[in-house]
Amino acid sequence: MSWSEKLSDSVQSIAPSGIRKFFDIAAKMKDVISLGVGEPDFVTPWSIRESCVYGLEHGYTSYTANRGMFELRDAISNYYKEKYNLDYDADKEVLVTVGVSEALDLAMRAVLNPGDEVLIPEPCYVSYQACVTLAGGVPISVPAKIENEFRITPEELEPFLTKKTKVLLIGYPNNPTGAIMEREDLLKIADFADVNDLIVISDEIYGDLTYSGVHECFSTLPKMKDRTILLNGFSKAYAMTGWRIGYALSNPDFIAAMTKIHQYTMLCAPITAQVAAIEALTNGEKYMKKMVAEYDRRRRLIYDGFKKLGMDSFEPKGAFYIFPNITSSGLTSEEFAEKLILSEHVALVPGTAFGKSGAGHVRCSYATSIEKISEALNRIGHFLKKHAG
Ligand code: PLP
Repeated sequence: MSWSEKLSDSVQSIAPSGIRKFFDIAAKMKDVISLGVGEPDFVTPWSIRESCVYGLEHGYTSYTANRGMFELRDAISNYYKEKYNLDYDADKEVLVTVGVSEALDLAMRAVLNPGDEVLIPEPCYVSYQACVTLAGGVPISVPAKIENEFRITPEELEPFLTKKTKVLLIGYPNNPTGAIMEREDLLKIADFADVNDLIVISDEIYGDLTYSGVHECFSTLPKMKDRTILLNGFSKAYAMTGWRIGYALSNPDFIAAMTKIHQYTMLCAPITAQVAAIEALTNGEKYMKKMVAEYDRRRRLIYDGFKKLGMDSFEPKGAFYIFPNITSSGLTSEEFAEKLILSEHVALVPGTAFGKSGAGHVRCSYATSIEKISEALNRIGHFLKKHAG
């Protein structure tokens, strides 16, 4: 007997992430260069690690407040005041979570009733649709166009609007495309959200990783602060993926509702990681800036490299991904990714892992060394020669 029929309908309806398959192939091969994983290749800066060691030595081993240590919530609140002139009350408007992953899940569960629809510009991060489905909502994908550098407009969202639309979920700088949204683009989206009374969930985990232009925080837009659930975390900017710390900022009602779920399901984020996150926010900026400068160097190398290989790609402006078009190879994205790893030992992710509108593209992460990127470009060049015409 198969036990799978006993599973919930919502779990059965979602597919496993399309990213993992290629990691599994790569794990069995020697000399693989991975442009697949969306994770910094840096180790967390030492002063951040050291603060955790210090915390352990001083007995920081207990639960914390459900909402997170006050010192961390206060540091987060100060960061948003200094950087964006936004006032978030550390007591009522900040919730520390186990990564942005948990914050995303909590946000969905806190606001969605069964059948509520969530507009999601696509291509997008692999968890968005699944989180909506698991919370009982209905994800509605809205294709973003490469001609518009994968930015989204109200005109593109409008046709997908129904009486059930409750949330707009956006993630800029974007995974997988590297797109950002300029302030003038976002002002139109804010107006659209206001007119249609939508809650906006804005995943700004790559906000500090912007190379060209500045990152615009969605909550700074007129009338958007209370309407928005702003998500951010430490995984990417501070190379802290394994620590599992993120946070949500919003009006007191949304944060109280999310805290209620968090309290019963997670209790609190680990204290050791919260101590490290305080150090990251108070003293970590200089290390973060160094890493960002290095990503920028790699970004230019890979963008120029793809151009030289004749692979069409728009220049990524943020995050650490590039999303070249591979249709000239005559292969689909899945075929391209599979044949490339088997013949050249380079791992990347087919664009369709991020939604149907990612067809004809692959995602490459440049969070890896200059040497590895150069060698990967050589191997991809070799591969393209074999598939030319
Ligand atoms: N949001 C986006 C857009 C991501 O790319 C990722 C991780 O890749 C996450 C959220 C999850 O981040 P965290 O490690 O904070 O759970």
